[in-house]
Amino acid sequence: MKTIRTRFAPSPTGFMHVGNLRSALYAFLFAKQNNGKLILRIENTDTDRVVPGAVEVIYNTCKAAKITFDEGPNEGGNFGPYVQSERKEIYQKHAKELIDKGHAYYCFCDKERLANVTFMGTHRYDKHCLYLSKEQIEENLAKGIPYTIRQNIPIEGVSEFEDLVFGKITIPNKELEDNVLLKSDGMPTYNFANVVDDHLMGITHVIRGNEYLSSTPKYNFLYDNFGWERPEYIHLTPIMKDENRKLSKRHGDANFDDFINKGYLAEAIVNYIALLGWSPKDNQEKFTMEQLINSFSVSGLSRSSSVFDEVKMKWLNGEYIKELSFDNFMNYAIPYFEKSNIKGKYDYNKFGHLLQSRIETFGEIPEKVSFITNYHKFDKNLYYNKRFKIDYNKAREVIEISLSLFNKLDNWLDEELNNIINKTAEVLEIKSGAVYSVLRLAISGVQITPGGAVEIADILGKEETIERLNKALNWLRD
Ligand code: GLU
Repeated sequence: MKTIRTRFAPSPTGFMHVGNLRSALYAFLFAKQNNGKLILRIENTDTDRVVPGAVEVIYNTCKAAKITFDEGPNEGGNFGPYVQSERKEIYQKHAKELIDKGHAYYCFCDKERLANVTFMGTHRYDKHCLYLSKEQIEENLAKGIPYTIRQNIPIEGVSEFEDLVFGKITIPNKELEDNVLLKSDGMPTYNFANVVDDHLMGITHVIRGNEYLSSTPKYNFLYDNFGWERPEYIHLTPIMKDENRKLSKRHGDANFDDFINKGYLAEAIVNYIALLGWSPKDNQEKFTMEQLINSFSVSGLSRSSSVFDEVKMKWLNGEYIKELSFDNFMNYAIPYFEKSNIKGKYDYNKFGHLLQSRIETFGEIPEKVSFITNYHKFDKNLYYNKRFKIDYNKAREVIEISLSLFNKLDNWLDEELNNIINKTAEVLEIKSGAVYSVLRLAISGVQITPGGAVEIADILGKEETIERLNKALNWLRD
């Protein structure tokens, strides 16, 4: 059986948008599960849009996402070069071949003419230069008049092909424009390069966005004109920001690096985007890469677009964070502690234990720990707790008793702290939960904290806890 070969063909724009990453991922999963090959091809023929360092961004992103290539600019391979700007002569040779066969023609029309041209009622090229005589063409070429090479598409008939996601597609040929194949700078357009490269690189399955679905008949003409076998097509629906708008790098949406910087794990992003446009057979939501390779199926690809839901991705990321070993969690977390106001003041590990099950992204860390250094006088009515029947007078008693016991404590250990809290509750004949809640507020200044009174007292240490309890007591006496 023929080896399955597919490709990821990004334009090096400097971003790796989640839509691009998803195309890469699906191509990777498809290649891997079929023991096939994934090729990376850099589509940089649009020289105005090329951004320095962009290929590195593509490689770094794919590496972080654990998507690997069998062939590509860095990997090498027998079908290179894998960068389109290095394949200029190949396209030119093939364009000439099409001209010789009558499937393409020189076009000398200038911008002004093209701006106003209409054909069969719509604004598009009217095949004007198809009818130039041989002599006129030679004269124009000799004069050095700039030209493009256009595809000659028949007006009659219909084009049909089978897409593995969308099924049978039928488009009347009269709707297809004679697009430019080779630009006046000698570079090919996407419309031409994708066909030449996919064929010469032995691509059996083309996986790409469905914005190319309606142009595919034009590409099929090229395959047929050259006498090449058409590939199988797998067109993917777009990822939407909301019902009306696609996610777009131009609007700064959903760039992989931005999510990493916000504290998402690459594995969680990959897992989430795998499910944007593909549904597994059951309702499984968490997938390792290995499981994705095994479960992915073209029949599970959706024909309708999917909406990117960051809340959902956050939830999934939280699940991944919970499963990290503590050491690994801390490796990711430390840079965020370093950026927070506890930097150099409190024990990161102690906070780490409190936070691992309480955050969905690492980026939440600075905000979650900020209360500890923002300790300041607070409204004593915050002590009021209906459930525990506590008001600030009761809170004062709680603090007075526990403080006297804390003062005597030699070992600042959780167990001892818990004993004191229980003892205080006993003396005052209240629930120990009430004591925990009063003390937590007294030493943190806020009602919601990661971790309770004992954990916070442990982070603060004996001296600072006692100092804060004294302060809290004074504020209650004001
Ligand atoms: N360079 C094209 C893009 O980024 C690739 C499309 C394709 O995969 O053929 O949209």
